[in-house]
Amino acid sequence: QFEPFYQPKVDFNTGTICGAEALARWRHPVSGVIPPGAFISELEASGNIDVLTLDMLNKATRDCKKWIDQGLNVTVSINLSLAGLTDPYVVNTISAIVENNGLDTRYVTLEITETAAMTESATALEILARLRMRGFGLSVDDYGTGFSSLSQLTRVAFSELKIDQSFVRGSTTDPSLKTIVQSSIDMAKGLGLTSVAEGIEDQNEWDLLKELGCNIGQGYLISKPVPVNELIKLL
Ligand code: C2E
Ligand code: CA
Ligand code: CA
Repeated sequence: QFEPFYQPKVDFNTGTICGAEALARWRHPVSGVIPPGAFISELEASGNIDVLTLDMLNKATRDCKKWIDQGLNVTVSINLSLAGLTDPYVVNTISAIVENNGLDTRYVTLEITETAAMTESATALEILARLRMRGFGLSVDDYGTGFSSLSQLTRVAFSELKIDQSFVRGSTTDPSLKTIVQSSIDMAKGLGLTSVAEGIEDQNEWDLLKELGCNIGQGYLISKPVPVNELIKLL
């Protein structure tokens, strides 16, 4: 009953959809579509989050392979919870799922929240390093809400920085939010990371982010997360 909904990511330079983030939805037979806020933390707390992660990875990479086969050059992003990743062997499991679906790992980005990414766990750091070596993209999600120092950020070979929506929204009217967004984009550029702004809801925010040199935008202005057949129409 779990399925990925997809929210498009748009390249500021070309204005085209360059990827989509898979966001879990529970299609409940009685209650309808249930958002992840209702089940992610429960799955993490009960030690069952890996089942969802691998299921989402399988479904999302299978979909992405279809888009590529149709000639669409789009990547897919999956949210990775580090809670259950306690064994480096999981890297083989993750790689095998993507390989079985016939998709090259360079089309897959794994998003890890800033709070989780700043782990001191040697195992988690090893898993992230191994995933990067296998060709996966690694993204710092919700950047700005955690407590990472700049040196911690470079400890893992991240490829993308996702500026949290709490800074994006309001950046057009609040000068300090604008400064935070600007310096995050500049830092990403300096570190050779792709910058992504999430939660763009109106044209003013879009124009500002573009002007500040952000690479990719995501938010309700473009589209809410939608079922796969609707994403194909958007593509
Ligand atoms: P996230 O990864 O930060 O995802 C972005 C959330 O912001 C999504 O909520 C998305 O629908 C919402 N959003 C995007 N654009 C806008 C906008 O313009 N305005 C507003 N107000 N909201 C916007 P969603 O789908 O409810 O997901 C919530 C969180 O649940 C995600 O935050 C992610 O941390 C978690 N999550 C979702 N799917 C998975 C999954 O498969 N595995 C894991 N571990 N976590 C997941
Ligand atoms: Ca995310
Ligand atoms: Ca986020």
